[in-house]
Amino acid sequence: MKIILFGPPGVGKGTQAKLLVEEFHSAHISTGDLLREAVKNKTILGLKAKSFMDVGNLVPDDVVVGLIEEVLTSEEARENFILDGFPRTLPQASALDALFEKLGVRLDSVISFEVDNEEIIDRLNQRRLCRGCGRIYTIARIGANLKMCPQCGGEVYQRDDDKPEPVRRRLEVYQQQTKPLIDYYRKTNRLIPINGMDEIGYVHKLVLDALYKDRMK
Ligand code: AMP
Repeated sequence: MKIILFGPPGVGKGTQAKLLVEEFHSAHISTGDLLREAVKNKTILGLKAKSFMDVGNLVPDDVVVGLIEEVLTSEEARENFILDGFPRTLPQASALDALFEKLGVRLDSVISFEVDNEEIIDRLNQRRLCRGCGRIYTIARIGANLKMCPQCGGEVYQRDDDKPEPVRRRLEVYQQQTKPLIDYYRKTNRLIPINGMDEIGYVHKLVLDALYKDRMK
C-alpha cells in the first residue's frame, strides 16, 4: 500500500496514519515529525527549518524534497509507505512524481481529509502530544492538566505551532500553497475525498472502505 494522506493541519492525518500503520505495517513518513526531530537534535536541516516552522510557514521545497528523497530511497519505505504532510506544494508534488518514476514506484491513492476550519482551530488548540511515544491526545479527553503520558510516562506538551497565531498562518499557507494539489491529484484520478469530521474510528473505517474499493477498480 503506497498512499498519501492529504489535508490541512489538524485534519487527523497523523492519527489516521498511526491506525493505518497498525493495519498495513507500512513505513509512516511524516515530514513534520522528521523536521521536528531534526530541530530537536539541532542538525543542519533542523537549523534551516526551525525559523519557518515556528511561525507556521512552509520549509523551502528543496529542503523537504531532499529529505523525502533520502527516506524513499531506503528499501523498507519503498515497498509500503504512508506519506503524511508531503507533498504540500505543486513543486513538491512534481518532484515526488519524478522520484516515483525514477524508483519505479506506483502510488495507490491520495486520501484527502476534509474538515471545517472552525473544527480545525478547536482541534489544534486542544491537541497535546507525548514527547516519549508520540501519542496524540485531546484535552477534552485527558483534561488540561495532564503532564505525564498514561501510556509511557513521557512528557505531555502542546506544540508551539498549535497555538492560535501560527495556526492561523498554517491555514492561510494551506489555502494558498497546498490546496491547489487537490486539482493536481484529481486530474490524475488518484484523489479519494474523506469526510474527516466524524469520530476517529469511524473515519478510519471510511478510509479502509475507500482504499479497498479503490483497489478493486
Ligand atoms: P506538520 O506536523 O505536518 O503539521 O508540519 C509542521 C511544520 O513542518 C509545517 O507547518 C511546516 O513548517 C513544516 N513542514 C512539514 N511538512 C512540510 C512540507 N511538506 N513542506 C514544507 N514544510 C513542511
